[in-house]
Amino acid sequence: MSDNARRDFLKQVGITTAATVGLSSITAKADEYKSGEVQGVLVDIGVCVGCRNCERACQVAHNLPAGDPEEYHNRDVYKEFRRPSTHSLTVVNEFENPKNKLIPYDVKYQCMHCNHPACVSACIVGAFTKNRNGAVTWDTNKCIGCRYCMVACPFQIPTFEYDKAIQPKIMKCDFCFERTKEGLLPACVANCPVEALTYGNRDELLVLAKKRIARYPDKYIQKVFGEDEVGGTSWLYIAPVDFEKLMFPTLGDKPAPGVTEAIQHGIFSYFIPPLALFGWLGGVMWLSKRKKELTESETKKEEDK
Ligand code: SF4
Ligand code: SF4
Ligand code: SF4
Repeated sequence: MSDNARRDFLKQVGITTAATVGLSSITAKADEYKSGEVQGVLVDIGVCVGCRNCERACQVAHNLPAGDPEEYHNRDVYKEFRRPSTHSLTVVNEFENPKNKLIPYDVKYQCMHCNHPACVSACIVGAFTKNRNGAVTWDTNKCIGCRYCMVACPFQIPTFEYDKAIQPKIMKCDFCFERTKEGLLPACVANCPVEALTYGNRDELLVLAKKRIARYPDKYIQKVFGEDEVGGTSWLYIAPVDFEKLMFPTLGDKPAPGVTEAIQHGIFSYFIPPLALFGWLGGVMWLSKRKKELTESETKKEEDK
């Protein structure tokens, strides 16, 4: 092992150890939800027309491969239910409206930016952060690819770049953190042509959602999805039909981190002694870094030929 590689290995084991020992502080970070500071988006399913402009805008904003705008008007894509992926951090699905086949229900899905995010709690190296504005972001440089966040998320949101040989990453909606920091709207919100998406203070969005439901009682069911689910989420939805019919999971109002904490503590109590776990994690990190170095050096040799 070269000095540099050894230094990286020790640094990474150090990070892993510190992060793992500091589980309670990571969990505390997940509980820093403060009503009033948190921003959100209200999604009005009664207004969305399924144009998929939001999907494309999100891809463009995140430098992901995007097709021509016309490609997104092809409604064949709605034949299969889709989940957000590493290529599309948000997706729209369509459901039949039994009352009026000409006006289907179109539903945009992405990370819900939970008030008490299970992904933050589950991440054993503290790669995830719940920011004060509500956005749940993550640091690719800290992520070791353990995929606990994928297991923990009650909405099955984080995805993994399985098709990438070099340094595959976890991917999900980041609430356009860099854009909103600059005072811009999230790309999807800015590009929705019918204002099905409203960005703003979460508390004010809740008031708006309830007013809309009260004003049009025949159009909406009496529920704001995300108000209470898993302790509340930054993204809120109103809809003309029950959310179960739109593939939303039925969840209680208790934050999900309790479940993931149990997973973490289970590891320590029953499966792997901590020192063995630290060593294993450090080894995984060193091996993946070494693999990347070897692949890069092979690629360079090929290019130099
Ligand atoms: S929806 Fe899943 S990935 Fe998004 S913040 Fe909640 S737990 Fe984390
Ligand atoms: S908030 Fe940003 S990252 Fe999230 S779905 Fe909208 S465009 Fe994509
Ligand atoms: S851009 Fe707006 S109307 Fe079009 S699919 Fe997305 S949320 Fe619906």
